[in-house]
Amino acid sequence: MGNLLVVGSVAFDSVRTPFGEVSNVLGGSATYFSTSASFFTDVNLIAVVGEDFPEEHLEFLRSRGINLEGLEHRPGKTFRWKGEYSYQLNEAQTLETHLNVLETFRPKIPDRYTTPSALFLGNIDPELQLDVLNKVTRPSIVACDTMNFWIEGKRDALWKVLESVDVLVINDGEARALGEDANLVQVAKRILSKGPKTLIIKRGEYGVLMFHQDGIFGAPAYPLETVKDPTGAGDTFAGGFMGYLSASGNYSEVGLRQAIIFGSVMASFNVEEFSLDRLKRLTREEIDSRYQSFKKLTHFEALS
Ligand code: AMP
Repeated sequence: MGNLLVVGSVAFDSVRTPFGEVSNVLGGSATYFSTSASFFTDVNLIAVVGEDFPEEHLEFLRSRGINLEGLEHRPGKTFRWKGEYSYQLNEAQTLETHLNVLETFRPKIPDRYTTPSALFLGNIDPELQLDVLNKVTRPSIVACDTMNFWIEGKRDALWKVLESVDVLVINDGEARALGEDANLVQVAKRILSKGPKTLIIKRGEYGVLMFHQDGIFGAPAYPLETVKDPTGAGDTFAGGFMGYLSASGNYSEVGLRQAIIFGSVMASFNVEEFSLDRLKRLTREEIDSRYQSFKKLTHFEALS
């Protein structure tokens, strides 16, 4: 089993979708990511929370075996995000972002975290992503996520991060904003010329596209009867993807494709309920069973 290091946000989210509304529930890029990855590999978390972060949430993360030595507790309030989705659930509209303790956060890396087998720079200030990257022994795979907030606010720092990562995982709207083109193939060309060897574009209910030197791979999203809240789908996808890669150590084309399917399986569970409610009671058996359904969904025999 590998050890996967993640830096990102731990948050209180308030979310409205056409199917319900929740306030100040557990969220954050690193929370979704590490919970999802913990089904596959050992996870070391780097993040910050304020004095208002309850023991109950810490207990949950510990119960998933996530190492919290790098979760800093600081005076002040935990990061808060408020967003809403229309019936077109693919993209959140951010209503409020309160960085709070994230504003002055400088990641400290515990000694046992410094030689990760895989690193995920979750959605957080690109300067913090760079800081973490510079403080650890570079593993053979480094992946990164971001969002419009940082693409608009810290573009130069973000491009600097991208020079040093192997895989960028972002959604289609963000990819278009970053690549400054409406056409995703052109966007991929531009981004791949800047550093990352692989670009994974998440397209919500339309699935994902993986672009790299040797070609393009596409996977659909699993067709679900119930979708309540897409928040964290991207991070949950990335957690399954990186968790699987960290455990297998197989970064070949075949390995990456397999990891994409595990990421898609994890994301498909997450969107069924609000916050991390579905992930909290998810079992390994359910993951394996949906993986088998995914295999059937995407399989075809070539007749010629
Ligand atoms: P996703 O839906 O996978 O793109 O990620 C949703 C998570 O990102 C939410 O749980 C938020 O708490 C978190 N988030 C939203 N905005 C930011 C931001 N500017 N920096 C870090 N995390 C954020």
